[in-house]
Amino acid sequence: MGDLIRLLPDHVANQIAAGEVVQRPASMVKELLENSVDAGAGRIILVVKDAGRSLVQVTDDGRGMSMMDARMCFERHATSKIRVAHDLQAVRTKGFRGEALASIAAIAQVELKTRPHADEVGTRVLIEGSRLVAQEPVACPPGTTLAVRNLFFNTPARRQFLKSDQVEMKHVLDEFQRVALAHPEIAFQLTHNGQEVHQLPAAQGQTPGALLRQRVVHLFGRRYDERLVPVEESAGDLHITGFVGKPEFARRSRGEQFFFVNQRFIRSSYLEHAVRAAFEELVARDQYPSWFLYIDLDPARIDINIHPTKTEIKFRDDRSVYAIVHAAVRRALGRFNVAPSIDFEPEPALLAASMPSTPGPAAKAWRPQDLGMAPPPVPSGWQRLFDLPDAPAVDSPTDSPLVMPSREHEGPPGARPVFQLHGTYILAQVRSGVVVVDQQRARERIVYEQALRTLEQGAGHSQQQLFPRNVELSPGDHALLTQVLPELRALGFDLEPLGGRTIVVNGMPAEAADEDPVALLESFLEQLQLEQGTLRNARHTALARSMARSLAPRSTRKLENAEMHELIDRLFACEMPYVTPSGRPTLLTFTLDELNERFGN
Ligand code: ADP
Ligand code: MG
Repeated sequence: MGDLIRLLPDHVANQIAAGEVVQRPASMVKELLENSVDAGAGRIILVVKDAGRSLVQVTDDGRGMSMMDARMCFERHATSKIRVAHDLQAVRTKGFRGEALASIAAIAQVELKTRPHADEVGTRVLIEGSRLVAQEPVACPPGTTLAVRNLFFNTPARRQFLKSDQVEMKHVLDEFQRVALAHPEIAFQLTHNGQEVHQLPAAQGQTPGALLRQRVVHLFGRRYDERLVPVEESAGDLHITGFVGKPEFARRSRGEQFFFVNQRFIRSSYLEHAVRAAFEELVARDQYPSWFLYIDLDPARIDINIHPTKTEIKFRDDRSVYAIVHAAVRRALGRFNVAPSIDFEPEPALLAASMPSTPGPAAKAWRPQDLGMAPPPVPSGWQRLFDLPDAPAVDSPTDSPLVMPSREHEGPPGARPVFQLHGTYILAQVRSGVVVVDQQRARERIVYEQALRTLEQGAGHSQQQLFPRNVELSPGDHALLTQVLPELRALGFDLEPLGGRTIVVNGMPAEAADEDPVALLESFLEQLQLEQGTLRNARHTALARSMARSLAPRSTRKLENAEMHELIDRLFACEMPYVTPSGRPTLLTFTLDELNERFGN
């Protein structure tokens, strides 16, 4: 028997590889646009016919190719972008595998016209199904035009897998948007069947933020301008810039959600989780906030070579990237103190006015051990609201302005009337009507933010027990406790493992001094068991939330006037006063309008 193994002819190998690189017209759009970006273009024009089936053409004013390169670029693994394997570590260009043009040329009719700026004439190359049909000098402007006609002309079976023009064009638009968003400094134009779809001037501006904002607005419309909350964060050599959409503009369908890493669009369910977690209390679970987030870091810290289309990457240190993204978005939302619109609609103008532009509440640390004692060490939250200019007139019945204490009752703290209902709710008159605060939920929010701060600063106060107590834990609880022991200590739990599953409780967080230590520890661990999923990604959030839930059990308790005021003060000193850590409202407002309507007045 003779030898059976043969090397595949190149054009067959290319056709097979093409299946990986080119699934649909949109895949070519991505590759060609990225080649133009890599060529240093300042302006890129994309022309598409029949959603890319009959034509995808990209013209740029980039560096162009020499006569030799114009032929070479269609060879497999022909690339000018890396020379040796070591270069892979430092890749900053989009392409680097040198297989896009070879793959495209295997399954379509490709015409290339290209001219380096220094040359007088350019080169035209015509190639069909990997066969060179023509190569000749041509007069053309500097830069490159690559036209791909009749995709899959030689593989009819694959042509049939294409979806309707509408669907294919949607994919083309997606790819166009991603490249355009990644490069606001480049002018882009898109035409489909002779009609202009996008005309994006090169953005001008001093800061990256200003450039991005212009690009987003040009791409998605003027109305986006007011929807964007800037995100800006640096940690070591990692930088994040960009925007998140205000929570009130979250939508029921997946909106604009973009991550870019070193100016490359990527998908990452892991980072998506980080952003969603930051929005957690601000948008309902079935709604999608939008984001445009740009992460820049040393290319050595990522691994992009895991898929030919390169939308997935691996971070060498994904946990810290997660934490930074989460913190960045969280802080941005906190700084702009974007209030939620769950159960009540704050009046935007009012909100904007009521919120300090500095991260005020976060900076004003208070200690829960002060609870029930002298006035809080922070400026009164109510006072903050009193200090506002008059609320704008309510001109539509659907407007229900945010909680505004009535000026009539302005006076020394404690003089404002509050009323406790069934040991559970606190009622207070506000400008627009009446506000009802859920005591337990308010406390949950307060303890949660306090615990988060304590964890970040690692300085929890511990109240020593007179008589240390031993607790015998279940195997599950014991394992969990061992895992979070350092953080528990930071929170103020003074615990010592005694061998076996027994723990000695020497001290408790100061704010829990009145609680039964064993019962509290068990309830805390019970809550934490429910947070296992979150614990993996967002430890502090999980711990703080468990702490809040176990320290603020549903109970009725009579409060003194001063205690009520204090609770409300502290609630409003929080970063996100309006909802509990799990997103339920801490307070409801009933406007005069609503009351009048109920009475038929
Ligand atoms: P890769 O981008 O991975 O290097 P491609 O097959 O996409 O592989 O392109 C092969 C080569 O052709 C590139 O490395 C580059 O040198 C050249 N090239 C492709 N498109 C352009 C362009 N628009 N302008 C200048 N050179 C280009
Ligand atoms: Mg390429």
